[in-house]
Amino acid sequence: MVSKYWSHIVNEIIPYVPGEQPQNHQLIKLNTNENPYPPSEVVFEAMQQAVSSNLRLYPDPNCTKLKEAASQYYKLPSDHIFVGNGSDEILAFCFKAFFNPEDIILFPDITYSFYEVYAKLFDISYETVALNDHFEIPVEAFFHKNKGIIIANPNAPTGKLLAIDSIRQILDQNPDSVVIIDEAYIDFGGTSSVELISEYDNLLVVHTFSKSRSLAGLRVGLALGHSDLIEGLNRVKNCFNSYTLDRVALAGAEQSLRDIDTFKTNVNRIIQTREHITSKLRALGFYVVDSKANFIFISHSEVPAETIFEKLKQRNIFVRYFKKSGIDNYLRVSIGTDHEMSVFYQGVVEILEEYAWK
Ligand SMILES: *Cc1c(COP(=O)(O)O)cnc(C)c1O
Repeated sequence: MVSKYWSHIVNEIIPYVPGEQPQNHQLIKLNTNENPYPPSEVVFEAMQQAVSSNLRLYPDPNCTKLKEAASQYYKLPSDHIFVGNGSDEILAFCFKAFFNPEDIILFPDITYSFYEVYAKLFDISYETVALNDHFEIPVEAFFHKNKGIIIANPNAPTGKLLAIDSIRQILDQNPDSVVIIDEAYIDFGGTSSVELISEYDNLLVVHTFSKSRSLAGLRVGLALGHSDLIEGLNRVKNCFNSYTLDRVALAGAEQSLRDIDTFKTNVNRIIQTREHITSKLRALGFYVVDSKANFIFISHSEVPAETIFEKLKQRNIFVRYFKKSGIDNYLRVSIGTDHEMSVFYQGVVEILEEYAWK
């Protein structure tokens, strides 16, 4: 639709469409990569304490205590850390902070679809890099003139990890570009590029509390990088909203960074469940991309993905299907609890049997 009241960009843009958040709770929800395990008690306690008469006061605009906790966790100085209202907000700020309309930025053709939406919203030119047949990122495709590079690692929606040596190569070849590595899923088995920050001033690593830290509902993300990059983000934030994180979110996120045990336990459970369901689905004739994330990307040799998607939905099992060329015969399935995955698996077995009878 169009409106005479809207700007050109708003008339033309197609916004990002998030996965469904059905309000019926009697279902198996494996469509938006949320963590199936709750955050720890200390996180709840800190948030409950924050619900006090102090809510009449604005929160700390500099997020000092949260940055201190992040500084200890990541072993980086506080001026190398930016916090935002979800990593989506940080990614949006990056487009305003680092790129100009005449610049060309690069990202893979199959990746988190928000990058394209932000490029259009901020009127930044972009080129996409084609993945190979195994959904791998060809590093050489990033070795030509550009002002910025954005890579989700592990990639979404494939779950495929790019080795840290390849990221190093991209950084070496692009000293004048800002290279953004979106590590929303890195805790589920990858090596973080955070260790490269001391060597590369142009590297910005973006993390979220929504996946590995079970706090999608709180909206907290982090960016880590050289202080010039962080100051660029601060400038944009302070032209937009001084208080992007509320008091409750600041308190919960800080404790989450301090409770390393719960975080690690939950991540390890998810990794085990992922490996288990991967081998079971392969035995059913699925192609399952090797995943280092909290989801798997799967395709069946005979039954179309869209059919499986619809039939799972009829059984109240929600997964994600993208009707996009190159991936339109794939489903992205978040890793839930072992129980949720066995209900999902049983549903899939039934659907394959029905299909075979037709
Ligand atoms: C989920 C996700 C995000 C968004 O995280 P929020 O912090 O919840 O905004 C960013 N990038 C990728 C690749 C994601 O999958």
